[in-house]
Amino acid sequence: VSAERIRNFSIIAHIDHGKSTLADRLLLTTGTVAERVMKQQFLDNMELERERGITIKLQAARMNYQAKDGEAYVLNLIDTPGHVDFSYEVSRSLAACEGALLVVDASQGVEAQTLANVYLALEHDLEIIPVLNKIDLPGAEPERVIEEIEQIIGLDCSNAILASAKEGIGIDEILEAIVQRVPPPSNTIDDPLRALIFDSYYDSYRGVIVYFRVMDGTVKKGDRVRLMASKKEYEIDELGVLSPNQKQVEELHAGEVGYLAAAIKAVADARVGDTITLAAKPAAQALPGYTEAKPMVFCGMFPTDSDEFENLRDALEKLRLNDAALQYEPETSSAMGFGFRCGFLGLLHMEIVQERLEREYDLDLVITAPSVVYKVVTNNGEEIYVDNPSKLPAPNERESIAEPYAQVEMITPESFVGTLMELCQNRRGIFKDMKYLTQGRTTLTYELPLAEVVTDFFDQMKSRSRGYASMEYHLIGYRENPLVRLDLMINGDPVDSLAMIVHRDKAYGVGRAMAEKLKELIPRHQFKVPIQAAIGSKVIASEHIPALRKDVLAKCYGGDISRKKKLLQKQAKGKKRMKAVGTVDVPQEAFMAVLKLD
Ligand code: GDP
Ligand code: MG
Repeated sequence: VSAERIRNFSIIAHIDHGKSTLADRLLLTTGTVAERVMKQQFLDNMELERERGITIKLQAARMNYQAKDGEAYVLNLIDTPGHVDFSYEVSRSLAACEGALLVVDASQGVEAQTLANVYLALEHDLEIIPVLNKIDLPGAEPERVIEEIEQIIGLDCSNAILASAKEGIGIDEILEAIVQRVPPPSNTIDDPLRALIFDSYYDSYRGVIVYFRVMDGTVKKGDRVRLMASKKEYEIDELGVLSPNQKQVEELHAGEVGYLAAAIKAVADARVGDTITLAAKPAAQALPGYTEAKPMVFCGMFPTDSDEFENLRDALEKLRLNDAALQYEPETSSAMGFGFRCGFLGLLHMEIVQERLEREYDLDLVITAPSVVYKVVTNNGEEIYVDNPSKLPAPNERESIAEPYAQVEMITPESFVGTLMELCQNRRGIFKDMKYLTQGRTTLTYELPLAEVVTDFFDQMKSRSRGYASMEYHLIGYRENPLVRLDLMINGDPVDSLAMIVHRDKAYGVGRAMAEKLKELIPRHQFKVPIQAAIGSKVIASEHIPALRKDVLAKCYGGDISRKKKLLQKQAKGKKRMKAVGTVDVPQEAFMAVLKLD
């Protein structure tokens, strides 16, 4: 296909505003997928989405469309991940497009996540087509939402499309708008090959499958290609398009979107954002914008049963094949034994990995509270990064300590502004901006320490706003703060896996709350268990768990058998996620106690 007949676009939408439904509609209307096939696939995906609580990506789909001007077009839909943790991937997907559909639920309005992605799209100079979805709903207010889009984003909505992905309203208009309004890719077929990787996954038979957009030149099956960032070379075994299932082709030209397989061993060797060029005739310069996704959040992962250490290592190794952003290295904890210190893009990424380890690899893990990465200058002027609170140099060994900050944007109904401001103040937030939108909806901007965001900020925001507020954050650099290490001691011994870094002014409050929470979460033992919080050698809070009364089981003997059984079952269940710290059994929840403080 010639470049003039190609349109590359993506769909930007807040979760639940109808991205998947619209994508399915477009595939159906263009005859790319038959209704019968769609239904099955749709059901499978829905189940997965519900289980995981995340939107499944379609990756990419190529559609043939006969436009009203009588010409046949190829429309490539490039899907973007829907969560802030993966914003780098979003930016690479958008870099592979010339246009984007901005889908907004006409009964809701613009949400924070929509906003973040629209700004990314504008940065890439994409043509944005506003689509007001769900106009079939009785509560739809397209005029109000249009006003909101114009007000917040400053986007001209005079030719916004009113649609219902569910009822099939406005779909032809959307397809025509893509053809008419999204510019075709520039025709650079004679330039040296440059193709942008926007996605990849590991396949155990063919190696890594790489999704890319050809920006310049031509790529053919059998070509020897070079990845410009990783500097590795491969021969293309398989080249194809996604219609939406993989279909092999012999060559792809500037403007086209496709996939390749080349016996690549791990996704880390073909990272999102890297440029593919020809080994024999390489491009002078890689495509702009490549960065390695850096983990922002770290935690310790320990098998409950120390015999499982090797299994955990194998599982992490396998996951890593498919996840270039996952980092891990062995960690030895005096309290927990052998495990791994793992790094993630954000909390959702961390949860996905944990869940896969437990479900797909059947591992029982004890996981420590998430920590951000601190920048510490030691006494001899050395700058070090600390991702494990227990490794923080003592106050007399360090000159300064800085923590990462994020700018957080929230969009909320006006009535929740007060409670959300209170939340931000409690989390050491710095107020930046507030704007009123239509119908009392309000944007709220704060700068917050990332450490305060990655704990339970999102949950708190949701519960304080009864689910109505949405948020987005991005990093804005390191700032020095008077931070201290808070140690927690169980039965007299400091537990390294419970150490945390907190602001000096909050240390007493957090120390007391932690001691109380641990008292509540750690079960009674045969002996009294003291719990203390300390800063350096100074104990700031002290609690104890009273010894178990010996007659807990005895009481049931001879009496109600089923009650005794229940009690034992309950104990056995509780045991599953216990880690013996010295002579004290500490349950998994205790290591996450910091997330449960009020
Ligand atoms: P996504 O999270 O953006 O991919 O949203 P989905 O496509 O999964 O849609 C979320 C929910 O909205 C689903 O229950 C859809 O059936 C529903 N939905 C999507 N489009 C429409 C629409 O045009 N009208 C109505 N009434 N519901 C819709
Ligand atoms: Mg979806």
